[in-house]
Parts: sequence; C-alpha cells; structure tokens
Amino acid sequence: MAEDAATRPLPEADEASKPFFDGAMLGKLMLMKCADCGAMRIPSRQHCDVCLSANTDWVEASGRGVVRTFGVMHRQYHPAFTVPYNLAFVELEEGPRIVTNIVGIGDADIRVGMPVVVDWERHEDVAVPNFRPA
Ligand SMILES: [Zn+2]
Repeated sequence: MAEDAATRPLPEADEASKPFFDGAMLGKLMLMKCADCGAMRIPSRQHCDVCLSANTDWVEASGRGVVRTFGVMHRQYHPAFTVPYNLAFVELEEGPRIVTNIVGIGDADIRVGMPVVVDWERHEDVAVPNFRPA
C-alpha cells in the first residue's frame, strides 16, 4: 500500500478498546475472551455474542489466520488512501474475523484461504495490525 502515513486517519483507543491498543504497542494481538463460555471476540464490545455475559478477559492471540475474503479498492474515498489497495477479512486461529490490509504481496496474488500472520504497522502512538503471507 502507498498511503501517506502523515495524513492517514488512525484509530484512537477508547475505554473499551484500550487493552487491544495497549497490546498492539507491545506487538501483541489481543482478543476479548468471555470469562463464562470462552468465546473470543473482536472488536471489543460489552457482551459476549454467544452467552451475553459481560465477564471478560483479554488474551493474546497467536497472530495467525487465513484470508476469508478480500476486495481491492479502485475508487479513492479518502485522499490519504492511494488506490488500488486491498481490504481483507482475516479469520484468526482463535475464530474471530478481523478487518485488515494484506501487506507484503501484490493485490493480484492474494487468495482466499491463504495463511497469514500479523504484521504491525507502527505509528508514534498506535500500532495497526496488518497481515502478510505466513
Ligand atoms: Zn460467553
């Protein structure tokens, strides 16, 4: 990708997502884990999708997954995002799917089912999880 990092909008942690972004700065991909049924989820939200429990732990994910689906954007919606660029849903080993960008490979070579591993895009105050071929 060729986004201009200086003007690209970056995520900002809120109270609910702070453990995710604190982990990201340490190179750890953090997931919410239901303390009652063990279901994993991301992004952060108050209740478990499976049992509606509000009891949550944060656990470090392996950082491995597979491309479940992807698209290549050819229309520019924001000046900082130079087209084309890809958007992908990566299914993590732990189950949840994360919206991300695939890096380290040309868009034409991305395949559904491709094994990938997290690749941190580091900025001054935040790290963003991209994924690259494993
Ligand atoms: Zn649960």
